[in-house]
Formats: sequence, structure tokens, C-alpha cells
Amino acid sequence: MTQEWLEGHRARKRFGQNFLHDHHWIERIARAIDPKPGDELIEIGPGQAALTREVIALAGRQTAVEIDRDLAAFLRTQFPDGSLELIEADALTLDWSTVLEGKRLRVFGNLPYNISSPLLFALLPAAHRIIDQHFMLQKEVVDRMIAAPGSKTYGRLSVMLQYRYVMHKLFDVPPGAFTPAPKVTSSIVRMVPKPEGKLLPVDWNVFSALVAAAFQQRRKTMRNAISDFLDEEGFSEAGVPSTARAETLDVEAFVRLANAAARRRQ
Ligand code: SAM
Repeated sequence: MTQEWLEGHRARKRFGQNFLHDHHWIERIARAIDPKPGDELIEIGPGQAALTREVIALAGRQTAVEIDRDLAAFLRTQFPDGSLELIEADALTLDWSTVLEGKRLRVFGNLPYNISSPLLFALLPAAHRIIDQHFMLQKEVVDRMIAAPGSKTYGRLSVMLQYRYVMHKLFDVPPGAFTPAPKVTSSIVRMVPKPEGKLLPVDWNVFSALVAAAFQQRRKTMRNAISDFLDEEGFSEAGVPSTARAETLDVEAFVRLANAAARRRQ
């Protein structure tokens, strides 16, 4: 695949632009995504189409969301056969439920690192429309996403994402694969939405707010960290000791706590 570059384009820091230029890595990432004809694929941040070209070669067509006006104009010139459907928009404020309405999509992207966590949260409510997600993120963020209870990196991101997805870190990508090279190592993560289980948060907003409060002061006992949500009786109803710390509790314990809190608000 020949890579064409947008001449004179200077990578924009505010859009987290680090372009993949090393063909070995571009191919390896595309193979991990494994696009097939007939797949409905949507890329976040196609940039100068490094991954886009590979994916279109394998799947025939795809959609992409790009915020940078100059890159969007460049991208429009690159696929005259209409194989790329471009949405020029901010992926953070895009109404994902509407974009994915009635579809089952495969999402991928070398995400701008400055907005990766908010973007993962923005996609969460639309997870039932998603077949899988393949993202390149800072290695440190992927470690937090897949961390188990008790580990230092286990936190809000781990609980909220593990509740909804089965996640696998696939491989690391070195800074030298990009122009400009980022300061940190990146990792590719595969995220597959879980079938909706029996233990569901009855109120998503309570679940989300309770998890955020629990990890805001991760050294505190849960009794103190989430006192706005639950009293001692609520903890026993959820079957969780109020002396526990957030970092030791698994995802199910958070759902039980959130559901006890939601019932108290009804
Ligand atoms: N996919 C390309 C590659 O691998 O070379 C570019 C990756 S670069 C890390 C991130 C891309 O996301 C850039 O093209 C950037 O302009 C775009 N981007 C940044 N913020 C965005 C946003 N909020 N919505 C959509 N695209 C965004």
C-alpha cells in the first residue's frame, strides 16, 4: 500500500496527532483488526489514512470520523471511488447512539491520547451496537483498563470498562513507529462488549457517580468515600463491608452497591 502524505501538514498537538508511518506496524495492526468484506467499520481519527488504506484494501469500504479540517479535505481526495465515508466531526461530542442506530459496527482507531478516556466513556452507552473495538492507546492507559482488583492501577476506568467489555491487550507499539514520535509506548487493545448479564446497574448514572466517588479518594474506606450514597444498612444489603477500600472491590461489588444506593433513592 503506498502512503500519500499531506504535504506541509504540521502535526497538531491539540488534536493529539502522531501519525503511523512504519509499514510493519500498520500491517500488524490491520491484521489484528482483521477487517472482512461486509463488515461495517468506523475509524476514529483517520489522520492521513495510514490504517484506513489497509482496512479499505481488506474490507472494501469504511466510515471515519476526523476533526481536523485540513486532514478531512485531504482524505476526501484520497478515495475517489467512495470507499471512505467521512464524517467531519468531533468524536467526543458526536451522538454515538444516533450514528450507530440500527447497526452493528466494528470501531477502531489510533486514538488521540489527550482524549482517549473521555472517548471510551462516550462510546459506553452505545456498546450494545458495537461488535468490537480495536484501539491504540498509551500503554499506561491500557494497563489501567485491564487492571485487576488489588493492583495499583485498578481504578474508575477499569471498573467502568470491565463492566461492559471483555478486554485483551494484544501488543505494544514503540514510539519510533510514529511521526512525530510520542514520548511513551503505545498498546493495542481489543474490546468486545459482554452480553448483558443478570447483574445490571438499575440506574446507570448512580453506578457511574458512585464508582467515580469511590476512586476519588481511593485511600479512604468505602464508608467514608461514598457516604453520600449509602449508610451501613445499604452496605449490608449489598453484601460489601463498609471498611473495604475501592481498589479491592470487583466490578460486581460496585454494581451491588450502586443498586442498593439506587433503591434508596426511589
Ligand atoms: N490514524 C492516523 C494514524 O494512525 O496515523 C492518525 C492518528 S493520530 C494519533 C489521531 C487522529 O485523531 C488525528 O488525525 C486527529 O486529527 C484526530 N482527532 C483528534 N481529536 C479528534 C476528535 N475529537 N474527533 C475526531 N478525530 C480527532
